[in-house]
Order: sequence, then C-alpha cells, then structure tokens
Amino acid sequence: MTIEFRGVTKRYPDGTVAVNDLNLTVDDGTITVFVGPSGCGKTTSLRMINRMVEPTAGSVLLDGKDVSEGDPALLRRGIGYVIQHAGLFPHRTVLDNVATVPLLSGWDKAKARKRAAELLETVGLPAELGKRYPAQLSGGQQQRVGVARALAADSPVLLMDEPFSAVDPIVREELQDELLRLQSQLGKTIVFVTHDIDEAVRLGDKIAVLRVGGVLAQYGTPSDVLRHPVDDFVASFVGRDRGYRGLSFLSADGVEVIDAERVEVGTTLPGPNPGWLIAVNAGGQPRGWLPPNSTVDGPVTEDQLVAGGSLYQQGTPIRGALDAALSSPASLGVVVDAEHRVLGVVKAKQVLEIIEATPQAS
Ligand code: ADP
Ligand code: MG
Repeated sequence: MTIEFRGVTKRYPDGTVAVNDLNLTVDDGTITVFVGPSGCGKTTSLRMINRMVEPTAGSVLLDGKDVSEGDPALLRRGIGYVIQHAGLFPHRTVLDNVATVPLLSGWDKAKARKRAAELLETVGLPAELGKRYPAQLSGGQQQRVGVARALAADSPVLLMDEPFSAVDPIVREELQDELLRLQSQLGKTIVFVTHDIDEAVRLGDKIAVLRVGGVLAQYGTPSDVLRHPVDDFVASFVGRDRGYRGLSFLSADGVEVIDAERVEVGTTLPGPNPGWLIAVNAGGQPRGWLPPNSTVDGPVTEDQLVAGGSLYQQGTPIRGALDAALSSPASLGVVVDAEHRVLGVVKAKQVLEIIEATPQAS
C-alpha cells in the first residue's frame, strides 16, 4: 500500500506548527524512516496516517484514497501501531494483549488467542510467555509483544513510533534485525519514526529527514542522504557522532567494508570533520588521510594530509587487510578495487576475528 502526504500541515491549537506542508510518498512494501531531532514533527506526521491527529491542511492518502473519508476507528483498527514502551495493557496477559485487535474485530476468543499465540512465535517469543503480564517481561520482550500486537491487525501498513528507543543498544540491535527479518517475509509498508540516524540508516529503504518546524529537509535512500546531504542541517544531523558509521557491505572473503567518508583534494569540506577522512584524487584513488578537525576554510591541500598505510586490494589475501588497518593512522584499512579506487575501509578487529575464525585464511 502506498501512503501519500499531499501538502499536509498540522498547526496545534496553541499555534505550534508541528508539520509544515509535507509532500512525500511512502512506497508500497518498503520501510520508510522519519528521522530528525526531538520536536520536529515525526510523531505528528505518523499519527496523521491513522487519524490520531487530523491535519489542518492537506490530505493523507492510502493507495490513493483520502483517509479522512472513512470511519477513524475502523481505520485505526486496520493499521498496526507500535510505540515506545510497547503501550501494553498492564492488567491483561501478554496473549490477551496481542489478541486485542482480533477480538475488537469480532473474532471469538479461542480463535483470537490461537492467532495471538502464532504471532508470539512470529516475533520470536516462547508460547509460555503468553500467560504472563507485561510487567513480568524484559523491555525487549515487551517491545516484541508490541510488534506482535501490531501485526495482529493483519494490515498492510505498520506504523512504529520510536519502538526501540527505550531498550539497551544490544537488545535494540536484535529487535532491528528481527524487524528486518520479519519484513523480508511480510513485505509490509512500514513507517518507522526515530531520532537516531544510525537506526534510520540501518532500517530504512528510504529516510525522510525532518527539521524542527516540521519541514522535510531531505527524502532519499540512506546512501543518498549520507553521501549527498542537501544542506548544512542534514549534513550535521547525519554527521553527528558519525565516525565511520555508514553503509557497509561484506566482501567475498567476509570482510565488512564500511562506506568511508572521503574528501577530494582541491575541494572544500562542507563542515568540520570529527573523524579521519580519506583524501582522494579526482579518480577516487587515495592520496592520504585528513586528520580530524582540520580547517574547513579553503580547499583541502596535499600538505594537510597524513600519509596512509598500505592499501588492501579487494580479493587479495585477507592478511593484507590486517596490514592495511594496522598501518593506517586512522586504524582503518583502506580497501581499493583493481583500479585502486577507494571502496571503503575495514577495521583491524573485524579482520582479526575473521582470520582467527578461519586459520587457513591467513
Ligand atoms: P517529534 O515526534 O518529532 O518529537 P512531535 O510531532 O511530537 O515531534 O511534536 C512536534 C511539535 O508539536 C513540537 O513542538 C511539540 O511540542 C508540538 N506538539 C505535539 N503535540 C502537541 C499538542 N497536542 N499540542 C500542542 N503542541 C504539540
Ligand atoms: Mg515523537
């Protein structure tokens, strides 16, 4: 199902403009992440899809049909919704929490519970947890129950508002992986809200970066947004604490190659660089490293660069990746293709783990 925002504005009664003329289409069967700092209108945008908030102007369309035309209660029942802290009913068992929507839709109790039990399994929870109350579960388990409950709506659309923000980073990663796994099976249209750019990049087929005042700053694939931020706001938002985050891919030998930030010699940095940057020539070949916090006025020159270590050409023995990482001033080994163009970087620790796991690799 596609979701289209057409000139949508929300002004709250006190005059706050939470969302300002939003135009955007969420593609069918994809995860779209709304990301931005607190107060930029993410929750308001999300809630206008299921009419928990009504727009002041403009319209929201589901598969071309204006959501304001039907019955809001029916609409909401037909759209899965997951929030932070799961929003579970404390006095109902886990199973009955998940069975809520099927029951509301008129299913008999036995059938609704059976469906709920299946859904617990779908989200990776053992059936016996169904008898417990929400307070008897860990935070991560509660979020899974929240997801199961949202899936019970059996709708093509799932709205998720910071669902994983309250759990610790390790559990958060598990939940993110689980969501990606579920999505590969279910192919829902998911709108996911977060203030965490890493989470957005990890989950989103596309990400919409919003700024305070409810203005859409940029909408594109994670790679687009990371590599070509449209303005200083987006650049600093996606660059915050960025280090060497970014997209990564596994090379044939199992090395995780991280999409490294780079700068072309002779061009000017768009803003301060908190971490090391690979300096490349116009052909994309490495010239050295630009140290953190280099000056941003004027073009980057060769004499600002620190010499790089050895390069690792993809496909050659993995030992070379370790040498590259250990000899680099940034502790990141530069991976190049056969034409010596930069593909990304590798971390020594990760390469070591692979070498240790497969002794023959060394
Ligand atoms: P986010 O989810 O990105 O943090 P929200 O959509 O919750 O942002 O809020 C956007 C702006 O609208 C904020 O300035 C917030 O204070 C304001 N806001 C949210 N809900 C209401 C409301 N019910 N009444 C008045 N202002 C609100
Ligand atoms: Mg919010």
